[in-house]
Amino acid sequence: MDIATEGPQRATRATTPHQDIGRAPANARRRHDNNPAPTRTDVEAAVAVLIRWAGDDPTRPGLTDTPARVARAFEDWFGGYDLDPDDILGTTFDEIGGYADPVMLRDIAFFSWCEHHMAPIRGKAHIAYLPNQRVIGISKLARLVDAFARRLQIQERMTDQIAAAIGQVLQPAGVAVVVEAQHDCMSSRGIRACGTTLVTKAMSGAYRENAALRGEFLASLRMR
Ligand SMILES: [Zn+2]
Repeated sequence: MDIATEGPQRATRATTPHQDIGRAPANARRRHDNNPAPTRTDVEAAVAVLIRWAGDDPTRPGLTDTPARVARAFEDWFGGYDLDPDDILGTTFDEIGGYADPVMLRDIAFFSWCEHHMAPIRGKAHIAYLPNQRVIGISKLARLVDAFARRLQIQERMTDQIAAAIGQVLQPAGVAVVVEAQHDCMSSRGIRACGTTLVTKAMSGAYRENAALRGEFLASLRMR
């Protein structure tokens, strides 16, 4: 049920002063060091080096366009740096009637990248919050997960970032985020442990303090 989009409601812009919740500045790719942003030519040359490092010939016909394709794919895979959580969550709904139960959104599929190996992390995020006179459109929760996923990440931090962003914008009575994911760096290399799932949780407010509320959310994940 998308309670944020049903019925006559007044949309308001959240005015809470936010801490740094992973917002991306306009030019995020230049943010983290003092070097100028790499050019597309630089990136394609770097990909060609990686192809050679893998043991292949970047000039053979099947691979000649690959560096350009990889450069474009990076813009998609790492597009999260250009997405601002404040913008995504910006519009909230204050008139929620007497609604006072948890809002849960389960099975938000995401695709991320482990920052240690730049290998894929594939998984699902589950979000619950106990509203405090303010809710948000559920599609925005999915977009928030996507914004944090499409970066170099560790799952633990991503889980916290999602919970923190919801907490700061919605000021709910409590937030719970559970992320379960498979890490290709573990299944494709090293010990080649396939089929393992890393589960991380972030709980705040009522979800930290109230075992029954927390248990209801966690039980709903087991039932799905
Ligand atoms: Zn890794």
